[in-house]
Amino acid sequence: MVVRLLLALLLLLLPAACSTVHAEQPQKQIAITFDDAPLSDGPLFSGTERARRLIAALKAVDVDQAAIFVTTGNIKGPADEARIRAYAAAGHVLANHSHSHPWLREVGPAAYLADIDTARGHLARFPNVRPWFRYPYLNESPNAASRDAVRAGLAARGLQNGYVTVDVWDWAIVNLMAEAKGSGKEIDMKALRDLYLEVMLSAVDTYHDMGRETLGRSPAHVLLAHENDLQALFIDDLVRALRKRGWKIISPDEAFTDPIAREVPDTLHNGNGRVAALAAVKGVDPSRLRNRYHDQKLLQALFEQRVIRPVRTK
Ligand SMILES: [Zn+2]
Repeated sequence: MVVRLLLALLLLLLPAACSTVHAEQPQKQIAITFDDAPLSDGPLFSGTERARRLIAALKAVDVDQAAIFVTTGNIKGPADEARIRAYAAAGHVLANHSHSHPWLREVGPAAYLADIDTARGHLARFPNVRPWFRYPYLNESPNAASRDAVRAGLAARGLQNGYVTVDVWDWAIVNLMAEAKGSGKEIDMKALRDLYLEVMLSAVDTYHDMGRETLGRSPAHVLLAHENDLQALFIDDLVRALRKRGWKIISPDEAFTDPIAREVPDTLHNGNGRVAALAAVKGVDPSRLRNRYHDQKLLQALFEQRVIRPVRTK
């Protein structure tokens, strides 16, 4: 009887104890974004097929809103136009990733802003457009004057920096897939999926930890992905894996309300996203602002060791 009473008491107290722990550790939150859409046909899928798969995969795991950062110069005809409309019709939001994907350091602020305006002109005919601009190559400028000129130009246009916090080199894996296909090599799809998850989850961990160490908290994160075949294959697996690790998938609308969205990092460190930029401002060494898979040679070695199927001999 006493044992029973104690058990009942324990069961009553347990949920309270759990929710206390939960309250002390705010849920890890991340939004999903895809750059460079509409990218041309990939090693596995046509652009149209890829968009169909990406939309279906997001729906399958109940991700209601992702952001598609459109490079409007990639819209070459009605099929590309239809893909962008399909993303918007599925509830995803569109934003500006320039017209011709230039480097600011190569073209200078005036031409750079003109290119953004061209993209704005094209985006105006689509629904669900948000006032966000994502820098091609995540790169502002190594020069403070041109960096600040573009920042002022964005503000004058009512555009917010559509930053990322989790920088991922998925594009490098897609290049390896294309090379393998081009030379007639067979890809082990399960091994490809495992490598993809390893690379993506490691980047999420890197910038989660960097936020906690340098900002004192992990902000609402924004995952960089590209509108490519790899994401179309496995984005649903990634979402499941993230949830398993305690992450909540939030909308980009929500992620960009995080206080870090209002920061204007005074750094010339480029290319790894906002958490890295804020860490750079705090004096963190640039070598520590990257993830270990931001390394072409490493990715190539892992791809060759694990993903390329050995030629069968009889
Ligand atoms: Zn891009």
